[in-house]
Amino acid sequence: MNTAYVALGANLGKPLDQLNQAITLVNKLSDTTVVAAASIYQSVAIGPGEQPDYLNSAAQIVTELNPSELLAALHAIEDALGRVRTVHWGERTLDLDLLLYENYISTAPILTVPHPRMNGRNFVIYPLLEIAPTLVLPNGESIKTVAQKLVNKGIQRKNSFNPQRMQWIN
Ligand code: AMP
Repeated sequence: MNTAYVALGANLGKPLDQLNQAITLVNKLSDTTVVAAASIYQSVAIGPGEQPDYLNSAAQIVTELNPSELLAALHAIEDALGRVRTVHWGERTLDLDLLLYENYISTAPILTVPHPRMNGRNFVIYPLLEIAPTLVLPNGESIKTVAQKLVNKGIQRKNSFNPQRMQWIN
């Protein structure tokens, strides 16, 4: 079994519902089990224009899928849940990123692991730190060191995860 970490995010539609459906589907993937999930973190959207806040979290999974199979499976879940009929037709309501997969390193654009932008994002690193406080990244840097470099601003810890129900509590 391989340990991997997945980031979950949503800011359109009903973000908490989408994240709850997403974690259920991740846990149902073949040869894959969700071991832990962090609390939900609400963060101010980055980028231009007025956008609703994001809800973000991270999950630790064990899986027999290889990194490419896992990413394809995550994209299938995004496609199944991630689009709503709004004026912004096609805008994503769910983002699933593969953050880490054991000590696997890939720089291919289609599958970059560790995720290339994770270290600069408090809404990725804080949930990861919550579920894996002793994690060491493939480059030897500890998650604690990465977290200490981030500014604790524009982010709030919200709903906690109930592992028995495999849901974040509203
Ligand atoms: P995004 O729309 O930001 O989720 O980016 C999706 C694109 O990034 C897809 O073409 C993926 O193949 C590519 N990608 C590369 N590495 C990763 C990763 N670690 N997690 C998620 N998407 C990735």
